[in-house]
Amino acid sequence: MKVVYAAPPPVTLPVVGMDGVAPVHRVYCVGRNYAEHAREMGHDPDRTPPFFFSKPADAIVAEGGDIPYPVQTSDLHHEIELVVVLDKGGAGIAVDDALDHVFGYAVGIDLTRRDLQGEAKKAGRPWDLSKGFDASAPCSAVQPASAIGHPTSGAIWLKVNGDMRQTGDLAQQIWNVPETISYLSGFITLKAGDLIFTGTPAGVGAVVKGDRLEGHIDGIGDLAITLV
Ligand code: MN
Repeated sequence: MKVVYAAPPPVTLPVVGMDGVAPVHRVYCVGRNYAEHAREMGHDPDRTPPFFFSKPADAIVAEGGDIPYPVQTSDLHHEIELVVVLDKGGAGIAVDDALDHVFGYAVGIDLTRRDLQGEAKKAGRPWDLSKGFDASAPCSAVQPASAIGHPTSGAIWLKVNGDMRQTGDLAQQIWNVPETISYLSGFITLKAGDLIFTGTPAGVGAVVKGDRLEGHIDGIGDLAITLV
């Protein structure tokens, strides 16, 4: 195929223990999926259906590293999240079949321009530019489910400059991974390479230029970024 301008480079993530990379197609994110985080954002947690927003695929920063402090914010927040990587698509996926669509898992940080998000909420406007901006989705290498299985519990935490800020356990998710995949596939046809950021535990907060963020999920890995 002859292109009329340069095609964007493919977005990929390294895969632990495999010769080959995981191509990224789209990035979906779940809002308020841990009760304590819902409360800290001023909402009563419940089992009303999950809601989703998305980030551009090229917001992914593979394996973290230096991240420029973004423009248009003075209230950049960290949200440490379990990331699900799909290797099989589908629509109307049953909860019982959902894990067959999962290639593996990674550690992600959903960087959020909280001030812009607050303004958007107040005005009833979309969250897009508060969530989906340059380098807003640092993500670790992918651990294949073939190696680690499908974790349903395990510590998830984030430190800023060595101080613990967010702590939780995957078992605290309001909607678990199969339920989330099934629900999302009721709205769109999922594709291989789609990523789902599955929400963050309590303790979100602001970070500034120079801060070093270290995230971890038991059995999945670590992700560190420095805001420059
Ligand atoms: Mn989030």
